[in-house]
Amino acid sequence: MTRIASILLPMPLPEAFDYAEPEGMELAIGDHVAVPLGPRTARGVVSALREGAGGNRPLKPVLEKLDDPALPEGTLRFVEWAARYSVDVPGQPLAMALRGLRAPRPKPARLLEATGQAPGRMTPAREKAIAAAAEGPLPPSDLAAKAGVSAGVIKGLVDEGALAVRLETPDIRFDDLDLASPGPVLNPGQRAAADVLVEMVHAGGFQSALLDGVTGSGKTEVYLEAVAAALAADPTAQVLVLLPEIALTQAVLTRFQARFGGMPAEWHSAVPPPRRRQVWEGVASGKARIVVGARSALFLPYANLKLIIVDEEHDGSFKQEEGFIYQARDLAVARAHLEKCAVVLASATPSLETLWNAGQGRYRWLRLAARHGASQLPDVELIDMRETPPETGRWLSPPLVRAMAETFERGEQTLLFLNRRGYAPLVLCRACGERMKAPDTDSWLVEHRYTGRLVCHLTGFSMPRPDKCPHCGAQDSLVSIGPGVERVEEEVRSLFPQARVAVFSSDTVFDAEGARTLVATMAAGEIDVLVATQAAAKGHDFPNLTLVGVVDADLGLRGGDLRAGERTFQLLAQASGRAGRRERPGRALLQTYAPEHAVMQALKDQDRDAFVEAEMMGRELAALPPFGRLAAIIVSGPDPAALETYVRNLASVAPNAEGVDIFGPADAPLALVRGRRRKRFLVRADRTVDLQGFLAAWRARARPPGQIRVTLDVDPYSF
Ligand code: ADP
Repeated sequence: MTRIASILLPMPLPEAFDYAEPEGMELAIGDHVAVPLGPRTARGVVSALREGAGGNRPLKPVLEKLDDPALPEGTLRFVEWAARYSVDVPGQPLAMALRGLRAPRPKPARLLEATGQAPGRMTPAREKAIAAAAEGPLPPSDLAAKAGVSAGVIKGLVDEGALAVRLETPDIRFDDLDLASPGPVLNPGQRAAADVLVEMVHAGGFQSALLDGVTGSGKTEVYLEAVAAALAADPTAQVLVLLPEIALTQAVLTRFQARFGGMPAEWHSAVPPPRRRQVWEGVASGKARIVVGARSALFLPYANLKLIIVDEEHDGSFKQEEGFIYQARDLAVARAHLEKCAVVLASATPSLETLWNAGQGRYRWLRLAARHGASQLPDVELIDMRETPPETGRWLSPPLVRAMAETFERGEQTLLFLNRRGYAPLVLCRACGERMKAPDTDSWLVEHRYTGRLVCHLTGFSMPRPDKCPHCGAQDSLVSIGPGVERVEEEVRSLFPQARVAVFSSDTVFDAEGARTLVATMAAGEIDVLVATQAAAKGHDFPNLTLVGVVDADLGLRGGDLRAGERTFQLLAQASGRAGRRERPGRALLQTYAPEHAVMQALKDQDRDAFVEAEMMGRELAALPPFGRLAAIIVSGPDPAALETYVRNLASVAPNAEGVDIFGPADAPLALVRGRRRKRFLVRADRTVDLQGFLAAWRARARPPGQIRVTLDVDPYSF
């Protein structure tokens, strides 16, 4: 009797394919194999094994068992679960799980070391070079620089055998954690929360908690206790900490290092591929005990995962909206379920979904109501922009400018928050009214002054800022409308010429190293005014920052998204929470044209519960999440007529199901991107409905022709 192996391939295929296990191969679940696929050979992973002959036609045999570290069964089951959840093919999340394994291994460095053998002839320069090499192996150019000799001297010593080449692979050390080091003495509220988390970790099995504490209440200190407990209880235990922003990773890594000595493994898109390969292998072998990373770290091959922390769990960045579409916070809970481990969601402004789950008793709800120590929550004040408008062509109102001046005079720091990159969000022609857009795309080009270009943030298209209107040809008629961070920076510099001003956005901070440097400069007090997009609004702890100014508090409330209120509240509460994190009290000033809006009132009164209650009631009346479920179906194609026909066809074959409402088709929020038109259906379902089953059945009834693409987004972030 031979065995049949189901092989999952990291490709857009609907299911695993069966192959025969050749005599003597002895496959196991999770093994990597090479299999024939049509005329070529493909790599895949064994997802199931069963005894059997394989029907009337003999199965093709597995060609080879590869010696890569096997994918743990928990990871495999998680990949399959994620695919079902997102109504996608398993090959998509599998490809994500294998991404680190596909990265190249780090190249060994060529170092020179002293051999102890004397050269044929000794000179002072040669003597210096040998002495420098004796202190430890170095790359040839570094050695020459250190010894102060020429490359020729070094080469001569190699030729004569006094120096020898040694190949060394850069290694990450995972084994230097110090788990015994105690953290700070926790205050009673923190202690109580930490005790519950530690107890959860010790109890084992699936456990979930919401760690709900105001900014600065010590959530990080509390979850560090749980991390320490998990690692200490089991010598092979692993912990994953998920963060929404790369910029935030640096701050958290630093705190882990301060607490545990060793550096956790870091995982996000800015980690270089050879390093990713090392992290992947470290996670698979169990050597990497702590992983701190962005949402895709959820797909790493954990050997023995015991605890997942999702920090800033409300953050929209946990939703991946391209390629494989998923909500990492929800998948983190699912993964904890599959791995039978603990999961902690932490936030000062939890999502309504999470608050609802906690209210239903699905998560333990741990609250930290006050900031740690003497630090107080900042005073939040609204500036009514109708009453105290800025001067023409300016964006900062007199009350905010006054507060900045006082802050500057006291030697304290200001953070100006504006969630808009670049100089101006729109450039238009005064002569003909033309708005500059990327070709065949429905979004405005954003002006960037640093680079002198107009950039489409959606498609990446960019062009130099023209000096005449491309539409009507008028000379010097283009005007920049509205502010971005670069324009606010310009205003701050003209108002406070003596102040040290910096901009924190993805245009000024490109990588983790850049973020680390800017955060350190700010923390050291070497910046007076930091103008920042949301990259800096979250999580950071700047001791001397006492004033937060929100340039355009209404920004996120414009547009039709039903989550706009929740999102704006979360973002501005986070931004305000950066102020006054130490002894000195902080202030947050919010510039708004709608001070009576419920979101602004809740921010001013710091009354999250009132806001949540009102928002929940609205959602309940409309049976929207968390009271019902949503999915978006985006249909896109280059030809408007063909798209229209298909969309109508799709609408006509929608299954009839109890408890399901279908809205649309309507133009999607971005109706034209790179020449593709986009239509959207929204599906609302009662919580008792099998939403994924409904979507799969519907899609199967109308296969899209040629160039039309159908994308399902289960639990969309915007709706
Ligand atoms: P959160 O994650 O809730 O915003 P943090 O854990 O960052 O809060 O804590 C805010 C600041 O207070 C940090 O600088 C932290 O080190 C400090 N802190 C919190 N709790 C304690 C404690 N028990 N002892 C000493 N410092 C603390």
